[in-house]
Amino acid sequence: MLTLDKLSFDNRFSSLGDKFSSRVSISPLESPYLIHVNPAALELLGLPPEGPSSEHLLQQINGTLPIVGAAPLAMVYAGHQFGGYSARLGDGRGLLLGEAQGPNGSWDLHLKGAGPTPYSRFADGRAVLRSTIREYLAGEALSHLGIASTRSLCMIGSNEAVMRETVETGAMMVRLAKTHVRFGSFEYFHYQQDYEAVKTLADYVIEQHVSLRNAQSPYEDLLEMAIRNTAQTIAKWQSVGFAHGVLNTDNMSIIGDTFDFGPYGFLDEYDPEFICNHSDSEGRYSFERQPGIGLWNLNALSHSLSSLIDEASIRRLLSQYEPILVETYADEMRQKLGLERHREEDQTLLSQFLHMMRKSKADYTNTFRSLGEFSCKQNTNSLSLHFQGNEQYQDWETQYRLRLSFEKRDDEARQKAIKLKNPKFILRSHLAHQAIEKATKEKDFSEIDTLLMLLQSPFDEHEAHTENYAHAAPAWSKHLSISCSS
Ligand code: AMP
Ligand code: MG
Repeated sequence: MLTLDKLSFDNRFSSLGDKFSSRVSISPLESPYLIHVNPAALELLGLPPEGPSSEHLLQQINGTLPIVGAAPLAMVYAGHQFGGYSARLGDGRGLLLGEAQGPNGSWDLHLKGAGPTPYSRFADGRAVLRSTIREYLAGEALSHLGIASTRSLCMIGSNEAVMRETVETGAMMVRLAKTHVRFGSFEYFHYQQDYEAVKTLADYVIEQHVSLRNAQSPYEDLLEMAIRNTAQTIAKWQSVGFAHGVLNTDNMSIIGDTFDFGPYGFLDEYDPEFICNHSDSEGRYSFERQPGIGLWNLNALSHSLSSLIDEASIRRLLSQYEPILVETYADEMRQKLGLERHREEDQTLLSQFLHMMRKSKADYTNTFRSLGEFSCKQNTNSLSLHFQGNEQYQDWETQYRLRLSFEKRDDEARQKAIKLKNPKFILRSHLAHQAIEKATKEKDFSEIDTLLMLLQSPFDEHEAHTENYAHAAPAWSKHLSISCSS
């Protein structure tokens, strides 16, 4: 029997005190049904693979059976949303069920869509199936691309009507995260001038996530960790073509993991100005602005830690952000191009490649993937198919061949390495859309299963799935619009 009772919970966050959260129970959904349990996430928790009956798990998630040791609570936080400060947000529809010890560390189990909390304001506390499927897929997709992210444990649907632009149905998922403390958690207490609470929260994060280097000030180490991890995560988003969509400070994890998936998107055609969130009319969170927004958000975080760290140290630490981001990005992109060692000319080679892709409206993922077919021994390469009619291409190919001549690896070894760095399968909007259509209209979850299988091994060939899952987005999908509604 699959049950969460076998987990060993230590609920440290609840012991911080009432200021930080409110105890809330799960509000069950009507006629719930199980959609997915993720074996990879069970393993993270040290739980055996799914047993023959999942009824018990379904009832635990839906709140009709207790989870032994869990102490559900809604966390309070604030945040800068699209640049403006919101003084009190908090988990309006999510609950931290508890912190559970897995074989390799502790995981927060967070139930999203669990019903109203003291922070729901005028909203219903629910999450619809559409957005739950999107978050569920995204956490797995990113982490299997090697990008720090929350994970997905299980998902349930229901027949409960939930009103958005149209009537939809309510769903819930359990996500795993190494922490649910956000930049906005610190902002909440800082702006109330409750510096004692800022310190309590900082100590809580430091105890679990910061390896101390600076005996004088563990808080500097905390900020340094947040800056480094955020820079690395965002650099990796840029390298795989991921746009988060709503980079408000309440959606920024203090440890830099990708967090709170809403209207995110992966690039199809290469377009640095890509705005995935239909509601983001100014493009504040466009793809190319993410690195700058990361720094903006870290500034906001730093300000909320200013009772613990002096201004000169904050400035010094923040100045590390850009070099870390640039270096991580350069390193990722060099590997995507199949280059083992750094050379001066690599930056130019890359920027010309991106420039050509933009001009040819080339598919970002598939163009990089086809570098894995490029052979120095052959005169024709499938890569050129992405750049038909582009007069810069021949020159670029000549430069690339010259650059490869400085590499030690032979064609075969390089091609193999390129395919381990450039995914064949990404979570394209139209694929998520198809999985959502089948699930919502037919209660058919087979597309979710297939997509997860591909996204959990995105570098493998999976020949049988090439045509339906690895090709560039079809024309109809250009009109898909994804808003904040969830
Ligand atoms: P999000 O845009 O999902 O990051 O949400 C921003 C804030 O609004 C968070 O505090 C959420 O908990 C809250 N929120 C979003 N949707 C709902 C809802 N349907 N019911 C209650 N609170 C919500
Ligand atoms: Mg959020």
